[in-house]
Amino acid sequence: MHKPMPEHGRDLDEILDQLEAFKDRDPQYKDGRLWSLVYYLDEEHSSFLKESYHRFACENGLNPGAFKSLKKMETEVISATADILNGTEEVCGVVTSGGTESCLMAVKTYRDMAREQRRVKKPEMIMPTTAHVAWFKASEYFGVKTRLVPLKKDFTPDLNKLKRMINRNTVMIIGSAPEYPHGTIDPIEEMGAIASKKNIPLHVDACVGGFILPFMEMNGESLPLWDYRVPGVTSISADIHKYGYAAKGASTITYRNLDYLRFQMFAYQNWPGGVFASSALLGTRPGGAYAAAWGVTRYFGKEGYRKLAEDTLDAVNKLKAGIGQIPELEIMGSPQGPLFSFRSNDPDVNIYAVGDQMDARGWQVNRNQFPAGLHAMVTAQHLQVVDAYLEDLQAAVETVRKHPELAQQGGAATYGMMAHVPLRGMVKKKVLEMYSEQYRAGGGELDLAAGSESGIGGGDSKGLLDKLVNRYVEYQSRKTSTR
Ligand SMILES: *Cc1c(COP(=O)(O)O)cnc(C)c1O
Repeated sequence: MHKPMPEHGRDLDEILDQLEAFKDRDPQYKDGRLWSLVYYLDEEHSSFLKESYHRFACENGLNPGAFKSLKKMETEVISATADILNGTEEVCGVVTSGGTESCLMAVKTYRDMAREQRRVKKPEMIMPTTAHVAWFKASEYFGVKTRLVPLKKDFTPDLNKLKRMINRNTVMIIGSAPEYPHGTIDPIEEMGAIASKKNIPLHVDACVGGFILPFMEMNGESLPLWDYRVPGVTSISADIHKYGYAAKGASTITYRNLDYLRFQMFAYQNWPGGVFASSALLGTRPGGAYAAAWGVTRYFGKEGYRKLAEDTLDAVNKLKAGIGQIPELEIMGSPQGPLFSFRSNDPDVNIYAVGDQMDARGWQVNRNQFPAGLHAMVTAQHLQVVDAYLEDLQAAVETVRKHPELAQQGGAATYGMMAHVPLRGMVKKKVLEMYSEQYRAGGGELDLAAGSESGIGGGDSKGLLDKLVNRYVEYQSRKTSTR
């Protein structure tokens, strides 16, 4: 039975109290124990976001000609973004609802550009295996085939392989600054040189890095070039709702000039509702998200963001140094930004069991796969929990070393088995089935991914993974019985 729409309206305060009460079972992020999903600083900043969002919560950015306020904010947010990305006066772009929308739009743009300019009918895009999952989504949605560049031992993409993947169907190359799984900044200068030579657009996915790497550089960090200073770079995605500390629902997609951006536009002239045009995926566009994004860039300015970048890097360096002191653990690759992953280099210490021990100590840590590891997306706020985290990590490693059987239990067993499931298609099918199940009429309890950006990575995902494993065991026993 569907739960009916309430017959009568209720008192405002009562509803607000109830909304507050819904939060009880959510991840608690204000104390710094969550390592993804939320970029929280303090109550002053948080209330400012809410207040600025709420000033424009009803306004609609659908038509840039209607609410001039929103168009002005969008233009100013884009020029501020172009400034920190070292773009020329010609860099232009659109504020989107998030990183995923920005990535989707880049794929649509370059597919349509190649279609019009080179008659490409079977479009392909080339990207390292570490490109964000949003690009795989774009590939499926827009019918652009992915060609994946494998990583070398140092976690950077093998550019010789990349060069060999280029063909006449290539519509774009993607690099990340940094990539989400390990925090490595892809070699954008080298990729830019390859892309320019072949005259193929190069998109830099700086969704996570775009609002922190520039400030780290202003603070004197020496980082490789990855922005519009690299000649081959034709577009960049940068999220304001990550390290820009905006309210959720704000990212940017910018292009070197309008000759690229115009392929992102959509228009339909024969609709009975009127001639319609739009610059990105959404129809109605949330004014609140624009106002909060505009507001927060003014609230911090370069100076504020530089301070946040400094504190974040301080936390990152302390965490890396602490992990370096634990002989069983090692950082993966050479991450230079605000996030990193680490793994075990000791066969007696199962990294997923270490993750379980961290969960048990009240942390919410994401898991990586291929190779197995634990992930940390660090914010300025984590500076205050560095010591507590490292102490617990040390203790977690010791516990796992003393109890190797932990690798066969709980989440560790499940993750271990998942990595060995031979038929990846079966994993995909099962995940799709379970994901759909949650949306059956009436909802049902979510048992997916409370603390995970990957969707099956951490937090309360054990239910899902247990089911997957059951299915795997069932599959194995069927296979042996029919032999
Ligand atoms: C977060 C992220 C995205 C997707 O952004 P959403 O805002 O979550 O949609 C894309 N690319 C990278 C590198 C990211 O870190």
